[in-house]
Amino acid sequence: MTQLGRKQLLINGEWRDAADGRTMPVINPATEETIAEVASASAADVDAAVVAARAAFIGPWGQMPARERGRLLWKLAERLTERIDEVARLETLHNGKPIVESRHIEIPMAAEVLQYYAGWADKLHGDTVPVKAGSLVYTRREPLGVVAAIVPWNFPLLLAMWKVAPALATGNTVILKPASQTPLTALALGEMAGEVGFPPGVLNVVTGRGGTAGQALVEHPGVNKIAFTGDTATGKGIMRSAAETLKQVTLELGGKSPNIVFADADLDAAVRGATLGIFYGKGEVCAAGSRLLVDAAVKDEFLDKVAARAKKMVAGDPLDPKTRLGAISSKAQLERVLGYVETGKREGATLIAGGSRTDIGTGKGFFMQPTVFAGVTPDMTIAREEIFGPVLAAIEFADVEEAIARANDSMYGLAAGIWTRDVRKAHYVAAKLQAGTVWVNTYNVYDVAASFGGYKQSGFGRELGRHALDYYTQVKTVWVDLG
Ligand code: NAD
Repeated sequence: MTQLGRKQLLINGEWRDAADGRTMPVINPATEETIAEVASASAADVDAAVVAARAAFIGPWGQMPARERGRLLWKLAERLTERIDEVARLETLHNGKPIVESRHIEIPMAAEVLQYYAGWADKLHGDTVPVKAGSLVYTRREPLGVVAAIVPWNFPLLLAMWKVAPALATGNTVILKPASQTPLTALALGEMAGEVGFPPGVLNVVTGRGGTAGQALVEHPGVNKIAFTGDTATGKGIMRSAAETLKQVTLELGGKSPNIVFADADLDAAVRGATLGIFYGKGEVCAAGSRLLVDAAVKDEFLDKVAARAKKMVAGDPLDPKTRLGAISSKAQLERVLGYVETGKREGATLIAGGSRTDIGTGKGFFMQPTVFAGVTPDMTIAREEIFGPVLAAIEFADVEEAIARANDSMYGLAAGIWTRDVRKAHYVAAKLQAGTVWVNTYNVYDVAASFGGYKQSGFGRELGRHALDYYTQVKTVWVDLG
């Protein structure tokens, strides 16, 4: 028996095994132990979830006054806050992130997302439209129907909430498919929804493999929308498959975000921003500032400081409140990241900090040193591909225009950072950057009211803020003849 036992699927308010009885292990990346066995859904389970979600959409959820939906979302936030210690611990156990990040950043923000969208539930309305005489025309903002939320393993509950909360607030029902590595907090969310009184079928949690459960959701004709966060290649496949049934799709994909440091910046603040930008969340952050663009005039001094700071960051037990650097989420991910380090060396970049696997004295766990490469040129693999780990690639530039050109020289466009004391330069560069979020003299800050999403191959659609509401509703125009 594993530490957390066996977990089932949540379909129509009932816990059940996968129809074919399959399960998959959940591994704690800090100990390499299997901590739970979770049901691995097949197309038959997905079909049952779609039937349940459709029935709830037409039935109790569709008929519930918007204010009542909002009240339930608020209650769910309260329940999550009551159980925060337990949920944060689960997030750390399956993902490997430090408990301080789960307990004080990720899970509190997940509760805030619920509260924010709870407030929107009864504030969405249509317009009356000034058309020709003799007609009354008005619009209604209506939900899409059944939404499938497919999420990755780096912020398992938070990225789920970015989709679940606006989808439910606007009257849709949801099937949530967490990443196969990190299903535990999604299941806890489903349990809490039942505890606070969500009708059965409104929030279903289907755990399983991407190629099986995920693909079945994408192909199912009864799903109206796919809200996806994950790899760019997976997103392209989802868009292709969703075309068959013409589902709506929003995609939050990868990034290779530039963090640009000008010589006139507060360099100590920029050093902190550059390291936080890449090492927060072990670098497994879609918006990680993984390309550090440094003004040639301050490059050597700046990179010395960044390397010194990286060397001071030591991995520790993720459950220890003092730990600031946890375990890489899986063995496969650790190997992938280490592979990029080898590629960086082979292509001629200079390793100035880290570069290796490490351990915390237990001989177990997928830990890695914070890694910094200097002397990176824009054509190198580590400057172009998303590594999704604690690896920083530093590239120099000569002037503002070269900084902008290098920053935009990427297929991605998720986020960017600018460090300067010159207000005019900051806004000039912010306007020129091809990125969905630009941080000036800060990095990796988020708020539920501030929309987030990609340019270019980092995806489309926006999450958070009021913009997200547009992606979970459709407009109906009603004509009434007054003649
Ligand atoms: P992934 O694409 O492998 O998996 C994401 C989810 O999709 C998982 O639930 C997976 O099971 C599912 N999936 C996989 N194949 C599928 C298929 N064929 N059909 C349907 N579902 C499928 O990504 P990952 O490795 O879990 O996550 C890392 C990636 O996510 C990184 O590239 C990162 O940049 C990106 N990411 C982006 C954002 C953002 O907001 N833009 C946020 C976090 C992570």
